[in-house]
Amino acid sequence: MYLRRGLRIQAVGSRLAPFGRSHRVCGAERPLCTKSDEVRLAEEASRRYGSLAPTIFSKVIDKSIPADIIYEDDKCLAFRDISPQAPVHFLVIPRVPIPRISEAKDDDTELLGHLLVVAKNVAKQESLDEGYRVVINDGKHGAQSVFHLHVHVLGGRQMKWPPG
Ligand code: AMP
Repeated sequence: MYLRRGLRIQAVGSRLAPFGRSHRVCGAERPLCTKSDEVRLAEEASRRYGSLAPTIFSKVIDKSIPADIIYEDDKCLAFRDISPQAPVHFLVIPRVPIPRISEAKDDDTELLGHLLVVAKNVAKQESLDEGYRVVINDGKHGAQSVFHLHVHVLGGRQMKWPPG
């Protein structure tokens, strides 16, 4: 199955699955980010956003810990939250380890937009047809616990407002 811009997702049963180690960008089959790509991204991020401590999400990205990855491309991954707060709860994270939304740069516009487009595409694949909530927690008052920018998508039940 191919999504917009030629990105491929393999469907396994009724669920999406990570598309293994290759995808199609600009018409050419090539591997997804390799370990050395991830190191390069982390070095670039360190220069751009200041010194960064790796988080647990770096291990999700380099696959050194298991995660239920439901989508990935060359810019981001989506995987199920380990402690779901709704029947469907997944996170979309950039491969570049931006620590938090408040530290994103003005020229991260395209990447930030991409995260939201992936969030809505994966929400559709997860059959969240009645709607869902998209959340980005930032810093102490936002109750952010993992300092690698992530977009929460929660659905499958009625949400309440205001949030706690
Ligand atoms: P936040 O509080 O906004 O920083 O959210 C961090 C989220 O990451 C929480 O909902 C955690 O349950 C989730 N989380 C932490 N570690 C993992 C992991 N290894 N795999 C999946 N989700 C995780």
